[in-house]
Amino acid sequence: MELVFMCPDTHQTFQTDAFSIVDHHGVRTDAKGHKHLDAKVRVDIPCPFCGAQHVYSADELACPFGQSSGAGSGGIGMEQE
Ligand SMILES: [Zn+2]
Repeated sequence: MELVFMCPDTHQTFQTDAFSIVDHHGVRTDAKGHKHLDAKVRVDIPCPFCGAQHVYSADELACPFGQSSGAGSGGIGMEQE
């Protein structure tokens, strides 16, 4: 599955499936009842624009797993319950 990432330095986007989920702590609920995924996504390849290896918080990405509200079947096999 490819995700779209935005380079924080150049603000250009690129798409890759070379990424890893790191620091995955599951879904947390904040004080206001909003659920969010407490995880980071590390791109495994250097950024095509600036050459750095970016790490994003899952909340920053417009991706399926930030928005699942209990459907329980993400496509990425990272359920850890
Ligand atoms: Zn970059």
